[in-house]
Amino acid sequence: MTAHRLREAACPICKTKLDAATGLRNDAAPKVGDLSMCARCGQPLRFGVDLMPYAVNLDTVRGATSATDFRAYCRVRDAVLARKHATN
Ligand SMILES: [Zn+2]
Repeated sequence: MTAHRLREAACPICKTKLDAATGLRNDAAPKVGDLSMCARCGQPLRFGVDLMPYAVNLDTVRGATSATDFRAYCRVRDAVLARKHATN
C-alpha cells in the first residue's frame, strides 16, 4: 500500500492535519473527485480543486461506488470509528 503525499489540509470536521492518502483497492494517486475519509474522525471526504478535501455524506459515497467498494469503505470507516471511540 503506497501512501501518497498531499498538500497539507485540515479535515473540515475535526481539523486533523491531512497530508497523505492511500488507495482502498490500489496504489493509484488520488485525483479530483475521488472519495476519501478522515482517518481520525471517519468523516467521508471528496477531493476537490488542488486535492483539497471537502466533507460529503455516506449517501454520496454509496452513490459513487459499487456495492462491493461501499462495503469495503464502510468496513474501514467502522474501524476508524471504533478506534476513535476507544481512545475518547
Ligand atoms: Zn476528521
